[in-house]
Amino acid sequence: MGKVDGFLNFNRELPKSRKPEERIHDYKEIYEPFPEKKTNEQAARCMDCGIPFCHNGCPLGNIIPEFNDAVYRESWEEAIQILSETNNFPEFTGRICPAPCEASCVLGINKPAVAIEHIEKTIAEKAYELGYIKPNPPKTRTGKSVAVIGSGPAGLAAASQLNKAGHSVTVFERADQVGGLLRYGIPDFKLEKQIIDRRLDIMSAEGIVFETNAEIGKNVDIKTLEDGFDAIVICTGSTVPRDLPIPGREFKGIHFAMEFLTEQNKQVANQTPEGVSITAKDKHVVVIGGGDTGSDCIGTSHRQGAKSVLQIELLEKPLDHRTDKDPWPNWPMVVRTSSSHEEGGKREWALLTKAFECDSSGHVKSITLVDIEWKEEKGKKFFEEIPGTERKEPCELALLAIGFVAPENSLLEQFQIEISERNLVKAKKYQTNWPHIFTAGDAHRGQSLVVWAISEGREAAVAVDKYLMGSSALPSKSGSFLVAR
Ligand SMILES: Cc1cc2nc3c(=O)[nH]c(=O)nc-3n(C[C@H](O)[C@H](O)[C@H](O)COP(=O)(O)OP(=O)(O)OC[C@H]3O[C@@H](n4cnc5c(N)ncnc54)[C@H](O)[C@@H]3O)c2cc1C
Ligand code: SF4
Repeated sequence: MGKVDGFLNFNRELPKSRKPEERIHDYKEIYEPFPEKKTNEQAARCMDCGIPFCHNGCPLGNIIPEFNDAVYRESWEEAIQILSETNNFPEFTGRICPAPCEASCVLGINKPAVAIEHIEKTIAEKAYELGYIKPNPPKTRTGKSVAVIGSGPAGLAAASQLNKAGHSVTVFERADQVGGLLRYGIPDFKLEKQIIDRRLDIMSAEGIVFETNAEIGKNVDIKTLEDGFDAIVICTGSTVPRDLPIPGREFKGIHFAMEFLTEQNKQVANQTPEGVSITAKDKHVVVIGGGDTGSDCIGTSHRQGAKSVLQIELLEKPLDHRTDKDPWPNWPMVVRTSSSHEEGGKREWALLTKAFECDSSGHVKSITLVDIEWKEEKGKKFFEEIPGTERKEPCELALLAIGFVAPENSLLEQFQIEISERNLVKAKKYQTNWPHIFTAGDAHRGQSLVVWAISEGREAAVAVDKYLMGSSALPSKSGSFLVAR
């Protein structure tokens, strides 16, 4: 432990964000530089708890007190070694993770939690700067080959771990670029895409092959994979969006969030010289859905020059503090304000969307909403409309950000993969009903988080390695450590 009384001497401090009125004119990351000394001080706030609840909070089991100590001592090489034992991509999670580790940090009981996510990002960035993150191909190859379908964080983590174990890995991606939702869902102001490219260069140099524009089950036959590889990992995400079947849904100007976000991400990457076809410019925008995706739609709408932005949520507004139902160290069900909310717009909760109305050209012009009251009877929650509260709001672009229901079925049908009652890929310890086919990430878990996708990718790699070699030397959350094969 670096500084015994660090938590008494330093307050939690994070990098400042650029002013909203400045940053909505670009898609660059929003944070200003932060002096290195201040990050060392933030690491010194860690109390090196006897029972570090932060470990449990982190789906990857990151060894947080140890890397905090290394950062306090300015030992960046040691810090990245510790962090890389459990996390393949700290440069992603250090930027976009909701940080469940911080929610369960012991210091958080009566003071602001240790700034774990910021420390993680800084370790990754210092390690790149100092050349500690470099290609490290396996010393020997096993002669076994694995096909990973899907290049989101789950597929990338699985590929990275399987390659470390010495297998020859090919990642197949149907999109024109690698990254899954990191690339085409999450906007650049949260994760600039050169951060992904920098990591992909390392992975390619380590021997991983990436095949883009390769949709398995469409332009690449599943037989090519069955014949050419010893094992297959399905990491295709949960990409079927939840729809809103209400009167007027068919009008022009009503889109799924991902249609809107993908186009803008392509535009930032200079891939759409003709411009975007769905734009918020000069429009009254209504974002339906109060989660991460909705928040990304808000930030993107501000940057495109929306006239107004209204975000609506069916559920009631959460409190701004924990209650007896979500005590520490559980994840707090509190109201969350993202950087996109800070940039403007209005948020309303406990609102039901009843219908859309259109103009004479069939384009949406307004939305009918009604306030609802949530009730509970015999442990079951339900809502009732509040009479007399029905109203119309201007709406020239509606973005549906109400989640994803399941992975697409066609590929799973072709492989004859069993699915669960929730329509997800069914698996026992990441292995499907076919012994050589495995799964990880949102396709298996349902719509979730990047940190969970990485965790699942890593654990699925252990299962594949065991299947191919009889046992696995890959690290897993159950506690084994990588040894050279
Ligand atoms: C807009 C948005 C914002 C988000 N923001 C955050 C955030 O800030 N923090 C966070 O932790 N999580 C966030 N999430 C959730 C997070 O992005 C996902 O949980 C995570 O990306 C899931 O990873 P995955 O690898 O399982 O799937 P995905 O990232 O969805 O990747 C699946 C990949 O498989 C490919 N694929 C599908 N079918 C085939 C096929 N037949 N052949 C070849 N390739 C195929 C797809 O093209 C895709 O590239 C966000 C999600 C969205 C939609
Ligand atoms: S719970 Fe918080 S204070 Fe304790 S070891 Fe983890 S990061 Fe440090």
